[in-house]
Amino acid sequence: MLINLVFSLLFLIFALNQQIMQEFKIVSPFAPIVFRGLDGRNWAIAMGSPWIEIPSDWTIDDVMSKWEKPKKPDPVKPKFVKKVVSRKKEFIVTLATKWSCTCSSFKTKKNCQHLEEVKTEYYKKY
Ligand SMILES: [Zn+2]
Repeated sequence: MLINLVFSLLFLIFALNQQIMQEFKIVSPFAPIVFRGLDGRNWAIAMGSPWIEIPSDWTIDDVMSKWEKPKKPDPVKPKFVKKVVSRKKEFIVTLATKWSCTCSSFKTKKNCQHLEEVKTEYYKKY
């Protein structure tokens, strides 16, 4: 009776372990490698990801199939965009997480007259 219980418990642990082996993902910008420890245990290692123990019969191809590059965050949608014409040139002033302008002055000084104009207009409205 007790033996049966121990066996079913062991089987459950084994099954759970198998399930974990199936479902894990290696998320890293760099490809994983297989590392065989001196104790005979095999590990999948990738930078930025925890070491994951893998079955001894796994090849690098099995490990590669579990590899995913981290997803890039979605670019921030601008809240406000305005085209400004100044001295016959067009510039785009944008408010996303910060204000920005496409002109050369903004690139060097992080501020410009277009941006100041649009900002003033924007804060009057909203
Ligand atoms: Zn500008």
